[in-house]
Amino acid sequence: MKVRCPSCGLVYSSTIPPLCQCGERLAIRYEYDGVEPKLWKGRRPGVWRYMELLPDVPEIVSLSEGGTPLLKSRFGEKLGLNVFLKDETRNPTGSFRDRLATVAVSYGLPHAKNGFVVASNGNAAASLAAYASRAGKEAYAVIPRFIESGKLSQIASLGARIIRYGESVDEGVSYASGLAEGKGLYDITPENNMIGLEGQKTIAFELWEELNPTHVVVPTGSGSNIYSIYKGFSELKEIGVIDELPKLIAVQAEKCSPIASEVLGIEPRVEPTKALALYVKNPLMKELAVEAVTKSRGTAVVVGEDELDLGQKTLAKEGIFAEYASSVVIPALMALREEGYFERDDRIAVIVTSSGLKGQCEESRERFPVGSTKLEILKLLRDGEMYGYEIWEALKKPLRYQAIYQHLRELESMGLIEESRHRGRRVYYRLTERGRLLLEGLGD
Ligand SMILES: [Zn+2]
Repeated sequence: MKVRCPSCGLVYSSTIPPLCQCGERLAIRYEYDGVEPKLWKGRRPGVWRYMELLPDVPEIVSLSEGGTPLLKSRFGEKLGLNVFLKDETRNPTGSFRDRLATVAVSYGLPHAKNGFVVASNGNAAASLAAYASRAGKEAYAVIPRFIESGKLSQIASLGARIIRYGESVDEGVSYASGLAEGKGLYDITPENNMIGLEGQKTIAFELWEELNPTHVVVPTGSGSNIYSIYKGFSELKEIGVIDELPKLIAVQAEKCSPIASEVLGIEPRVEPTKALALYVKNPLMKELAVEAVTKSRGTAVVVGEDELDLGQKTLAKEGIFAEYASSVVIPALMALREEGYFERDDRIAVIVTSSGLKGQCEESRERFPVGSTKLEILKLLRDGEMYGYEIWEALKKPLRYQAIYQHLRELESMGLIEESRHRGRRVYYRLTERGRLLLEGLGD
């Protein structure tokens, strides 16, 4: 496989950066005319089922990735929607990044004299560690200071060399390419080398085969996953099996929302979120991610920090233990449904990107306490409207009276409660429909 720059003619073969040296956008393309999706049916599930639309590789390094289940969501039924969960936690190392690693490691083998390197905030590093081991190669993981402890031990246990660099993953991207050059490593960081995105795009092919979705909801950090999925559906369109792309919906944490903010035209925030895999301050693929959303006529959603636990618990009720970064899809669905965004017969696919087994980040946990008091307040309001003092008394907690008002303000800003009426100086609060749905979703 070779990629020729459409503008200056420069040819790339070992690594394919998103942009040519001349600034032109590069794209990996195939012979689309002869592709026959009927052939896929006869092959075993997994990334390599779609080999006509993947790069030629000298040898496939596989741990049987992809072909993940698509589960009907019970929570979706409660919302009156057809929601399906694409359970990427079932991949060999517990995340969608195994799709990236199988293609990037297989393709990169001839170029990986002294091993492989990736800049990652956890999942891609764990994937590379596993696939490089499988190939008998060394793996170097450039990872930021903020990382879940489970991911760290997964990466180390799979034998990768760990280099801590920067606070969020984007800071390590150019460090990784320097390391690759200096040590003779093959760099599979998506921001430096698009080859692995070819593996990630197979999520789109699987969704098309099983559901042919009208919408795909994607937790978004670096933007590489939503862009890969967009590329996959664009290729299906080029082959002629779909007429239009499903609408792609990027979900980010309110605290770190550079991509969603661009789509929504709001002021971005770039603070640490406990959805650590989404903590990418300056995503180099932002433009491509935004293109994926706008060209598919999708949208973006930002999710508050206090909604992450609820998202995780709701997915647990479906039988899936997902990391916080994946749990954003639940509050996002609720917000969109409330806006009346979906039609009843829409087929909504939700990507559950990574397993909760990868652990919490102790460092960030202390800074983001779990919202159990807020949950109790919601439960109290389920039985009818109440005012602040009444709530404070009913909670029977060693809590300062003023703290109640802080909780009420935050619940109100999350759209879970609203003022119902004033009587004198008393302000009564009641649950919104969203708040009610949230409690139902938790089964409390
Ligand atoms: Zn060029």
